[in-house]
Amino acid sequence: MRRLAILVTIVVVVMLGLWASALLFLPDAAPRAERAAAPHPVAGEPLPHGVVLAMPVKGMPRETIQDSWGDPRDNGLRPHHGTDIMAPAGTLVLAAAPGRIEKLWNSAAGGITAYVRSPQRKWTYYYAHLSGYAPGLHEGQVVRTGDPLGYVGDTGNAGAGNYHLHFGLTRTLPEQKWYEGRDVDPYPYLAGKAASR
Ligand SMILES: [Zn+2]
Repeated sequence: MRRLAILVTIVVVVMLGLWASALLFLPDAAPRAERAAAPHPVAGEPLPHGVVLAMPVKGMPRETIQDSWGDPRDNGLRPHHGTDIMAPAGTLVLAAAPGRIEKLWNSAAGGITAYVRSPQRKWTYYYAHLSGYAPGLHEGQVVRTGDPLGYVGDTGNAGAGNYHLHFGLTRTLPEQKWYEGRDVDPYPYLAGKAASR
């Protein structure tokens, strides 16, 4: 009988301990659950709204892409927003997703660039540092995934001879303009791996 009482006491103490530790760790439980629910893309997984990104540089395997989101630029004055895909000069740049050419623009930073808007106008795909456009490319043109847009170059602030495609991904409201919206890290959707930062 006494042995049973000791056993019950032990069980009660252990249960109390578990309950106390659960309370202790409860504040951490909610964010951890949220993290688990956050998007964790894998290869070929669509963006929210069902967009799947294809490789925008011809012949470059997904595995070779490096995550450059957040890297310091302009001596640390701004973080890098986008993914730089290194490739030989003149390599074909292809549409990573379908849409409409909204703007062909030559800027000091981006050099020769193309802004492609998704059909629902919820995303802008930005292709920068091109050496030139594909023949006949024009604003208003509808492009499908894999259509040629231009060629890898070093225009804008890429740095002479630093040939790469800067690919940017921007979340937009349909009524926003081609230069508006919120930048999103395209790396996980291009490389099929979770971003490292
Ligand atoms: Zn870049």
